[in-house]
Amino acid sequence: MLQSDWFDLGRETFGSPHYDVLFAGRDEFKPEDVDYFVGFRPPPGYLKSLPNLKLVISLGAGVDGFMADPEFPRNIPLVRFTDASLAYEMAQYVTMHVLMIHRHQREFDAAQAEHRWHRFMLPRATAATRIGIVGLGEIGGKIAERLALFGFKVSGWSRSLKSFPGVKSYAGDTGLKEFLGQSDMVACVLPRTPQTENFMDAKFFAALPQGAWVINVARGSLLVEADLIAALDSGHLGGAVLDVFRTEPLPPDSPLWAHPKIIVTPHVAGITDPRMALFYVEETVLKNEAGVPLTDIVDMDRGY
Ligand code: NAP
Repeated sequence: MLQSDWFDLGRETFGSPHYDVLFAGRDEFKPEDVDYFVGFRPPPGYLKSLPNLKLVISLGAGVDGFMADPEFPRNIPLVRFTDASLAYEMAQYVTMHVLMIHRHQREFDAAQAEHRWHRFMLPRATAATRIGIVGLGEIGGKIAERLALFGFKVSGWSRSLKSFPGVKSYAGDTGLKEFLGQSDMVACVLPRTPQTENFMDAKFFAALPQGAWVINVARGSLLVEADLIAALDSGHLGGAVLDVFRTEPLPPDSPLWAHPKIIVTPHVAGITDPRMALFYVEETVLKNEAGVPLTDIVDMDRGY
């Protein structure tokens, strides 16, 4: 069964010769007829109303929409869509912004608008530019690997130590201060959990070097907007790129829209491609029916 408000997708997109697809809110069905639920942020309590569920499949890499449901049936496994194409898109987004910042591209755009020949060398050498990735998982790992190929000094921070070529790994609370202190640009790709909520606050920003940039592609609630604005206005931070927000869509009166040091995009860093999701859903259902152990099962206690 597919949550119908995730994307306005037709039956043909998710159809399979192996099972019937029912659309929540569009099709008539009995709750006990549903074996699999596929969606992103179902209304709280909805999954509990499906008594014969075998598996819940998240169409997004982030499962905070499921974790937010206090009645989520914890005896039912939750798997999440992880796909190289999604990680590559996220890596493109972060790489694009890192390069725009590093190469001062917006200054050249502004100069062109004034027909002004504004030529200067990059103020900081690539090899001396330190990029920190907060959350070195499926997506963060891909971002780090790609940025390392450009010759940046890349490091990452996660709960456990990782091994990616050309990437220095930091872990745990003890590694965080040193990691932040050596990050000229920091990109956050942590999952939203009780531990990561409000993670990027005044203390986090103060630990970054003077002039650092912050890129948030994780979830809006990981970042304390007022603290970010204060750190930008004091001159401590150089700028911020925000793709995710506490309230989405970002309200028109949000101060983030017009802040001169903030770049806003509407949660587009990585959007699950429905065609890839179709394959993933079919493969997952067939594996589960055949009793093949599934990967990408969410650890409900960890929350990701
Ligand atoms: P993932 O593979 O589960 O990786 C999560 C990483 O975060 C892991 O390295 C994990 O460390 C680390 N981590 C989690 N909690 C931590 C903590 N308390 N302290 C330190 N490290 C912690 O997840 P993913 O597939 O990379 O996705 C990450 C997030 O990206 C998603 O949850 C979603 O919110 C976001 N996302 C955003 C978009 C967008 O369009 N903006 C698109 C897709 C995903 P360990 O490996 O050591 O456990």
